[in-house]
Amino acid sequence: MRKFFTYRNGILHAESVSIPNIAESVGTPFYCYTTAALEHYYNFFQSALKGLGEVCIHYALKANANIAVVRTLANLGAGADVVSEGELRLALAAGISPQQIVFSGVGKTPEEIAFALQTGILQLNVESEAELWTIHRIATTLNTVASVSFRVNLDIDAKTHHKMTTSRKEDKFGIEWRKIPSLLQSAISLPHLKVVGLTTHIGSQITNLQSFRKSFMRMRDLITQLNASGLPIRRLDLGGGLGVLYDPDSAADLPPSPTAYAAVIRETLGDCHCQILLEPGRFIVANAGLLVTRVLYVKEGSNKIFVIVDAAMNDLIRPSLYGAFHAILPITEPRLDMSRQTVDVVGPICETSDVFAPQRSLTPAFPGELLALDGAGAYGATMASTYNLRRLVPEILVKGDKFSIIRRRPSYKEMFALESLPPWL
Ligand SMILES: *Cc1c(COP(=O)(O)O)cnc(C)c1O
Repeated sequence: MRKFFTYRNGILHAESVSIPNIAESVGTPFYCYTTAALEHYYNFFQSALKGLGEVCIHYALKANANIAVVRTLANLGAGADVVSEGELRLALAAGISPQQIVFSGVGKTPEEIAFALQTGILQLNVESEAELWTIHRIATTLNTVASVSFRVNLDIDAKTHHKMTTSRKEDKFGIEWRKIPSLLQSAISLPHLKVVGLTTHIGSQITNLQSFRKSFMRMRDLITQLNASGLPIRRLDLGGGLGVLYDPDSAADLPPSPTAYAAVIRETLGDCHCQILLEPGRFIVANAGLLVTRVLYVKEGSNKIFVIVDAAMNDLIRPSLYGAFHAILPITEPRLDMSRQTVDVVGPICETSDVFAPQRSLTPAFPGELLALDGAGAYGATMASTYNLRRLVPEILVKGDKFSIIRRRPSYKEMFALESLPPWL
């Protein structure tokens, strides 16, 4: 992060572009991503996997689905993990070939399944027995063969935020691992289904390798069992979930490096003779983006100072939803001798939870000043809404000394265009 967003002559830059220059041109708030960071994190992840044999990276679009971001990654060879027809269409439009796309998600509609089959994607990750039969029925109607991989619920806690763990038995995701052999047995005899492998994804922002190790061991046991009963598995999709560093000043929750993560894959599954697929999202994009906002007011409450900014929870919901930490960078480099004060950085939305940073120690903020929320490249813009009828904010992509608006701010007219009055009004 700090490598791609640095102070030059005391002003925060994205690569060689000054953040205040972008703010002047597009207004605030806005998201700013850098190409160099996207390329760095993708290449870092990919090079860590060398030595694992045939590995394919399927970038999880839900982390950041801007077409320019996806195209940047596609140009590096990335495939895609999509969870809706919208994401599938965007991945195709960004230039990712159907055979590099996997489709995950616990509730794919019949229309989405039909579209995926007509597109000819690599595989559908099946999350329930009922979904398997639906896919079979649609594939039969379309007279095609559906490539499916079974998403396994491993009954393992990823030890991350409780809203980000996805493979405990009480979670909605995947098929109970004990049921996999019998389901596989009944699926392989069907002419319109081709079972191509197994899939898992245990959660997100995982910072302990132990949870990955446990889940990969369980996958290995399952494969051994299936192989012994004459059901060979040749492809393994291990999902995403590798955590990133959000608070560089904290020693807690240090995420493992992709190299250590790859070593765990090698130790647990290195000899299983499977092609490996991975679905990283956050790791690739989180620290490639900032949310830039302007201070509107500084308000002294009875026992607190509130720094009220023009971005809000509808633009970046992670602090409200998960209590997530985002570092706050002043756009003007703070001098080391500057005093600090403890403030609450809050947005203008009429919700008490619209707080970006409760009780944060910052150099004194003043109205009109620009601030940047760091680590906002993942699950920022993609989770935004228009709550309070606030317009979605622009997204900017920087490359070297250039920047481009990759999503513009809609006009109010555009925002209201889908609404209409009934005839009786
Ligand atoms: C969200 C998700 C991912 C990406 O997770 P990250 O934590 O962003 O790496 C990958 N696969 C599936 C199925 C997901 O739901």
